[in-house]
Amino acid sequence: MKLLRDRILRDGKCYPGGILKVDKFINHQMDPSLMKACAVELIRRFASTEVNKILTIEASGIAPAIMMGFLLDLPVVFAKKKKPSTMDDMLSTRVFSFTKQREYHVVISKEYLTPKDKVIFIDDFLAYGNAAKGIIDLCHQSGAEIVGMGFIIEKAFQRGREVIEKQGIRVESLAIVDSLDNCQIKLRNE
Ligand code: 5GP
Repeated sequence: MKLLRDRILRDGKCYPGGILKVDKFINHQMDPSLMKACAVELIRRFASTEVNKILTIEASGIAPAIMMGFLLDLPVVFAKKKKPSTMDDMLSTRVFSFTKQREYHVVISKEYLTPKDKVIFIDDFLAYGNAAKGIIDLCHQSGAEIVGMGFIIEKAFQRGREVIEKQGIRVESLAIVDSLDNCQIKLRNE
């Protein structure tokens, strides 16, 4: 998606350890017009699928997910990284965070993820696929079907796509980073 690629090259910053900072338009300050354009493109790519819910994980997946849910008139559910004291009946899994270098629990209420659900999972980044693996586990536990997974930015060199596709799940990403070596952002042209 050219608009997104241009923005990453203009405003993205590369950090050691293979981290791309996009705080100016996705992760801190947000650009709603760009988010809408991303949602429209993801909807176009998943147009042939049957879906009744958008699933994401807090916090940075929520913005693109809610744009998609709004445009498709579908509910949006986000997996929580902390168990609320008021949540009794829940599904739980563990996810390793590569940016924070620690493991955390992710929970979702059984009320909002059920065998009736056909979901698209949306997140800001695909890196090693750990968050995606956690979501796949939650969906297996609940009996929900994963129709596909969509990401704003995929860091191809961290190979998360392989983890997801091995499970037979379709992956779409709007910008693919091939390398952040020497703190240079190399984007795939497509
Ligand atoms: P994964 O679980 O695929 O290894 O990593 C994806 C998650 O880690 C995303 O939810 C995202 O929040 C975070 N993440 C991974 N890599 C980056 C990065 O380069 N920049 C930012 N801002 N977040 C990242």
